[in-house]
Amino acid sequence: MELFVPRKVLMEEAALQYPLGMELEARFAREQIEVEIIASHNRIKPSKLKTDQQKYQEAKETLVIGVRKGLEFQSCKPSAHYQLPLATSCPGMCEYCYLQTTLGKRPFVRIYVNQEEILNQAKNYMEKRKPEITIFEGAATSDPLAVEPYSRGLAKAIEFFSQEELGLFRFVTKFTTVESLLKLKHNGRTRFRYSLNTNTIIKGFEHHTPSLRQRLDALTKVQQSGYPVGIVVAPIIMYPGWEEEYTGLIHSIKQSLPLGASNVTFELISHRYTTKAKNNIQALFPNTKLPMAEADRQVKYGQFGYMKYVYQKEAMDLMKQLLTKEIKENLPESKIEYFI
Ligand code: SF4
Repeated sequence: MELFVPRKVLMEEAALQYPLGMELEARFAREQIEVEIIASHNRIKPSKLKTDQQKYQEAKETLVIGVRKGLEFQSCKPSAHYQLPLATSCPGMCEYCYLQTTLGKRPFVRIYVNQEEILNQAKNYMEKRKPEITIFEGAATSDPLAVEPYSRGLAKAIEFFSQEELGLFRFVTKFTTVESLLKLKHNGRTRFRYSLNTNTIIKGFEHHTPSLRQRLDALTKVQQSGYPVGIVVAPIIMYPGWEEEYTGLIHSIKQSLPLGASNVTFELISHRYTTKAKNNIQALFPNTKLPMAEADRQVKYGQFGYMKYVYQKEAMDLMKQLLTKEIKENLPESKIEYFI
């Protein structure tokens, strides 16, 4: 997967007060990428383009560089205590993206230059919960590795948490530009997770993201560099042949973990959607083949009060049984953290 190169950059004026903002402005000038200075990264002017699809494409090709002002962290169940807001959105175009609910039709790719303030805030949260350990999730609002070549936010966070006895960091990615992170001092306090799925789901729905093979190769490198690793299988979708393909996926994962599976975690997430997401998905991907028939679903309420459509109980049970069985048989030392 190649480096994400934005078509255009929107730079919040205040970001130029920070070293990273200045450095990026100079970099994009050298690379002849248009940089427009804007007053606030939260107020982007309306697009001149006509269709929702064009506006979506435009947003995904635009890098917005801003100063994150709201420094209150959201909770992040079930994977962590808090979200660590390093970035928002990503250049990938997964049809089912969980951000379809929160970011709407123009999910601009955003990075923040005030990373030190964000990490200091994490320190405050750890302080409040001490002596308990506080876990932070770095991918709750984005795929942070996709923008790492510009933000270096993951590197900062990994090094920060390597020194924090009261905090642990984790993030999940589909992207594979891992080289800059492999040699960092992490002290085992960052769990580096890969979002994996079957080839059918990746090819059908995860546009502009690396292939399964590329992700598995990156997973191998990450494990060999000493990080605790994890696998997020999400979203689990039922389609003709799903059992064989998910079984094959677990076998491929096994072969990509040269150091074995002790201290490897699994998170298993069945497909779910909100009404807002469904409407956005149908507007942005009019030919989508994502299964979203309410008749096949049951209603659940999420942590922020959203009504979600999840698979019916019988289907959920089948998914859980299959994946749990395959993981336990093939990677018995690994730990399944949850299935939802
Ligand atoms: Fe959304 Fe993650 Fe896909 Fe990016 S990689 S579009 S954040 S699901």
